[in-house]
Amino acid sequence: MRKFLFILLISLFAPTIFCQQSAESETAKRLYTAGLVNIKTADSTIVVDLKYATTDNFVGKNMYGDFTEAYLQPDAAKMLANAQKKLKQTNRNWSIVVYDAARPRSVQQRMWEVVKDTDWKNYVASPSRISMHSYGVAVDVGIVDENGNAVDMGTAFDEFTEKSQPRYEQRFLQENKLTGQQINNRLILRNAMQAAGFRTIRNEWWHFEAMTREQAKQKYKPID
Ligand SMILES: [Zn+2]
Repeated sequence: MRKFLFILLISLFAPTIFCQQSAESETAKRLYTAGLVNIKTADSTIVVDLKYATTDNFVGKNMYGDFTEAYLQPDAAKMLANAQKKLKQTNRNWSIVVYDAARPRSVQQRMWEVVKDTDWKNYVASPSRISMHSYGVAVDVGIVDENGNAVDMGTAFDEFTEKSQPRYEQRFLQENKLTGQQINNRLILRNAMQAAGFRTIRNEWWHFEAMTREQAKQKYKPID
């Protein structure tokens, strides 16, 4: 009888013990159900600081409500864990910090509503074009040092100026508007991400994609 009770108790509580990672918020549950994974389960040492879950972002508003975790498609999460390993091979005490990962289309839509009548509108993809973040294969990252401070990349995350754009780095270096150290820090990040298979874009140093848009479309449905 005792054994039976024990098994009964275990089976009652096992779901709450083993499924906690999916239970944080409605959005997290939705992403988990859609097959995405919390990147902390791929590598618990990766630092997560979702800027859109705070007011510290270019819109100045919390766009994520109580959603504070970074989710990615499983293959992209594995790649990010690899990038973290690559980074630690060159800079043992540094860590990748995730500023944004999977972003539901409903959030993209809300962002658009906030910016569409402002000067920011050029920097937010209109909801008619599906963001790679909404496929769960794009990630916005930086680096933090051993004290948790952001390593200097010359601009803040989401600073929408030419200085944020990798394609102009050499020009800004020549004009002394970016230092060699800042560009070197960006290279350390880029090298680790590219070694893990991520693709870069020309206009944001923090944005990386795990595959092409065509591959993402074939493989995944965007998250609503
Ligand atoms: Zn991005």
